[in-house]
Amino acid sequence: MKIAIMGAGLSGLSCALTLEKYGYQADIFERRAMVGDRFVIAEAMFSIFHTPYDDAVKYLAETHEIYLKPTTNIQKVHIYSENEHSFIDGHLGFTNMRGKHPEAYEKQLANQLKGEIQFNKNISYKDIYKEYTHVVLATGDVLDTEKFQPYDVAFKASFKGAVIEGDFNQTEAHTFFNNNFAPKGMAYVLPHSDREASLVLVYPQYHENETLDKNELWKKCFAECCRRLDQDFKVLSEYSIKDYRIGKIQTPRIGNTFFVGNCWGAITPVFGFGQFESMLTGIYAAHDIVGIGNYENLVQPLSTSYHDSLTLRRTLERFDNKTLDLLTKSMRNELVDSFVTSKRFNAMKLLSRIIHPYPRKS
Ligand SMILES: Cc1cc2nc3c(=O)[nH]c(=O)nc-3n(C[C@H](O)[C@H](O)[C@H](O)COP(=O)(O)OP(=O)(O)OC[C@H]3O[C@@H](n4cnc5c(N)ncnc54)[C@H](O)[C@@H]3O)c2cc1C
Repeated sequence: MKIAIMGAGLSGLSCALTLEKYGYQADIFERRAMVGDRFVIAEAMFSIFHTPYDDAVKYLAETHEIYLKPTTNIQKVHIYSENEHSFIDGHLGFTNMRGKHPEAYEKQLANQLKGEIQFNKNISYKDIYKEYTHVVLATGDVLDTEKFQPYDVAFKASFKGAVIEGDFNQTEAHTFFNNNFAPKGMAYVLPHSDREASLVLVYPQYHENETLDKNELWKKCFAECCRRLDQDFKVLSEYSIKDYRIGKIQTPRIGNTFFVGNCWGAITPVFGFGQFESMLTGIYAAHDIVGIGNYENLVQPLSTSYHDSLTLRRTLERFDNKTLDLLTKSMRNELVDSFVTSKRFNAMKLLSRIIHPYPRKS
């Protein structure tokens, strides 16, 4: 067997590590000069989105021998709507670094590899497929997938983000649901340390949002973040992303080509989480390649979660600021809080099934 992995990100490296665990070495191609050669950002993995795995980091270590050190653990998530504020608490999950940060998850994965990564290799499938028995497409780029099969795009998202300096409680994250600056989207603050955090504004590029001035939205978002956290934050660095596609493919594997991570459709549409899902798809593809699993069957539960998540997103998108205020206020109710944070059942799944009893297509 000769295996090629295109892309040394979360899914590609998880695949490579799992292959190594079973005694197989893959050729890993990475277009950038090093792992995580992009802007620094904090991302999160929240347990409530990964039930039945109530601790994704522990699960990856104990079940798959993939060891990650998160940056902070989150004990409280604040929820702000236009006029309300509430929070949920408990052991909710972790933040971790991505990109150029020395502790970025992709760097942590690369450090566990025995084999080498071939850098500055911006290869195309055509360049390599003849040489390999198996190809794992892990470029994080949906446009690569679309060369093979239709990709059902649920929406394209616009991101604007910054690393901000101030005083932060490392165990607290902040989320903002306010159509005044995050139309049908959200903004959030994830701490890196007690002095730095990532502020991210994300919203879908629907026709009605295209005419909005992104810089104006960002200004309002930043001002609201300063107001709610009662600080004058300093911006240390900024980035912006457009046309980030969120959607899913129909066929996880074509012949001996495996689609993993974002190339498979790992991002859950409601809040845009995709790290854990990306790693799982990489691991599952490796299980299939070494003959201990069937990729299509293994990714099926992730596919169902994607559709549940899309149902929730479509529902949230219909809410105006008044409804978001009501929802936020209701989170102060202990019963609602314990429903959302329960580790005994998947609240997201349950809610989406109530809204839409049959899994939806798009
Ligand atoms: C701003 C932002 C915030 C996010 N926040 C969160 C969050 O808080 N929580 C969460 O769970 N998820 C979050 N996500 C989603 C998460 O980052 C992705 O789902 C995940 O990184 C996808 O992993 P991947 O392996 O598919 O791609 P990546 O990790 O992006 O890796 C792809 C790799 O392939 C390389 N590559 C590309 N093309 C080629 C080529 N032709 N040849 C060789 N190499 C190539 C790239 O350079 C890159 O290294 C966020 C995404 C964004 C954009």
